[in-house]
Amino acid sequence: MACPSVASFLSIHNMCGGMIDRFGTPEQKAKWLPDLCSMRKVFSYCLTEPGSGSDAAALRTRAARSNEGWRLNGTKAFISGGGYSDAYVVMCRSGDNSPRGISTVVVEAGPFRPTT
Ligand SMILES: Cc1cc2nc3c(=O)[nH]c(=O)nc-3n(C[C@H](O)[C@H](O)[C@H](O)COP(=O)(O)OP(=O)(O)OC[C@H]3O[C@@H](n4cnc5c(N)ncnc54)[C@H](O)[C@@H]3O)c2cc1C
Repeated sequence: MACPSVASFLSIHNMCGGMIDRFGTPEQKAKWLPDLCSMRKVFSYCLTEPGSGSDAAALRTRAARSNEGWRLNGTKAFISGGGYSDAYVVMCRSGDNSPRGISTVVVEAGPFRPTT
């Protein structure tokens, strides 16, 4: 017996861990991976947007530097675990409009979570 929903949920969580493990700095790995691997924190993967699905490189969410760090502005869609997860691996545009302009940011859930 198997539950595809749980399998997908775990796969997505693991994909987040894979990205951080492969591309993160030693500091980022030390910060995120222990809680991710033990599932003390659940992660979601935020690539899809209302206007970009299969054509993922067309994403429009913007990341701009601010005095506090980075400010993200945009809309994501179809995010498994959205509103539930503890942290979100978010693909966003910090550079030009080509695929090379895309960066990845880990966003911790804030205190106010959607109820729907
Ligand atoms: C249950 C569920 C969970 C999801 N969870 C997540 C998640 O956790 N994180 C996340 O980021 N996203 C998630 N998604 C989004 C998913 O990755 C997108 O739905 C997927 O990328 C397709 O995008 P779209 O729905 O916009 O369809 P479109 O990209 O609009 O595609 C529609 C149709 O057109 C076809 N098509 C598209 N481009 C071409 C082309 N160039 N040539 C020929 N045919 C084409 C496609 O094959 C498809 O049949 C989830 C989706 C679902 C349904």
